[in-house]
Amino acid sequence: MSIVYFASARAKKWKYDDSMPGKLEALLREFNLARYFEPKEWVAVKTHFGSEGAHRIVRPVFLRKVVDALHAAGAKPFVTDSVRIKGLDYLHVANENGINHLSVGAPVILADGLYGHDNLMVMAGDILGEIAVASVIHDVPAMVVCSHVKGHIQAGYGGAIKNVAMGGVSSSHRTCGWKCGRGAMHTLGEGMLSWDRDRCELCGQCMEICPLDVITFVNGELRWNGDECWRCGRCERVCQSGALSLPKDDERFMRSLAEAAKAVLSTFKKNKVIYINFLTEIQPECDCMPVADVPVIQDQGIMLSDDIVAIEQATIDFLLKAPPLPQSVAGEKAISPGDDILFKLSAKPYSIQIEESERLGLGSRSYELIEVS
Ligand code: SF4
Ligand code: SF4
Repeated sequence: MSIVYFASARAKKWKYDDSMPGKLEALLREFNLARYFEPKEWVAVKTHFGSEGAHRIVRPVFLRKVVDALHAAGAKPFVTDSVRIKGLDYLHVANENGINHLSVGAPVILADGLYGHDNLMVMAGDILGEIAVASVIHDVPAMVVCSHVKGHIQAGYGGAIKNVAMGGVSSSHRTCGWKCGRGAMHTLGEGMLSWDRDRCELCGQCMEICPLDVITFVNGELRWNGDECWRCGRCERVCQSGALSLPKDDERFMRSLAEAAKAVLSTFKKNKVIYINFLTEIQPECDCMPVADVPVIQDQGIMLSDDIVAIEQATIDFLLKAPPLPQSVAGEKAISPGDDILFKLSAKPYSIQIEESERLGLGSRSYELIEVS
């Protein structure tokens, strides 16, 4: 059985030790990072930099605490994410969202280079075959995966598995393109984007969100450059009229997340990756959308484990026990306490990603929770 450490978001005393940053420090002390990381060892602190407008990420103050704890253990940390939009723009987004060398106390770098093409092919499994793992994550000997927990329109739930799988893999490979990148998870076959003229309201949101500017409209007709497209699916997600779609299969998607996570983690030796889940600002959508809606579940706290499956299962157990928040999309959908809020938000079989990760040997869904206060 795996151990998951937990610190509650509730503050019951007006003391620093009862604050979230204070409790994260206590969690990191309890965990004893020196058990995992060597003096002078380079350690990637993998997070998601967010998006322009999506501010509900792992807050820089928490990344700072992780970096400080790694420094205290003698390691050499840096903060990183793979390219989601063009690399230079993504570094600006990180800075706007408060993640920079000054705030987090360590270099902030792109895991797969300015163009997102610095990656190495790694065998994933039956669904994906080989997949392009970001070179920095591939080569670094150790990693702390800091994940902001939320819902997700395609995954139903986004936590550590998704952060490792999608975030550890590049958007595109220099020669085999999106088919070797995270688009291979998002879509099927040739991944042809279809557009329903009758449903389209010509709002232009798909064009605005596309990181590569490969959607345009000419005389009211959509033009899409499929050769350049990453199949990131952002255009489809922001299209509220349902006029755009990429071919997909929900169960395959969940299983491919587990496969990709396994591929990324296969580049590390045993006991060199730990996971911190931030059950905070739990909004309904991915951190790469152009907004972050109000939370659907109250802040629960922070979890820490060396088992990616256990921490995901513990996180989901907490989310499903928490009452949905009014004045959020959960309230609008009349989701009640006791309902499976994650399923009701997106109608996706999200638990497959955790079950499949366990089946692939990434960890155990059995856990013991130790609360640190
Ligand atoms: S987001 Fe959807 S509705 Fe809006 S222009 Fe694009 S396809 Fe049309
Ligand atoms: S999937 Fe859509 S948003 Fe993403 S690169 Fe292709 S056209 Fe642009």
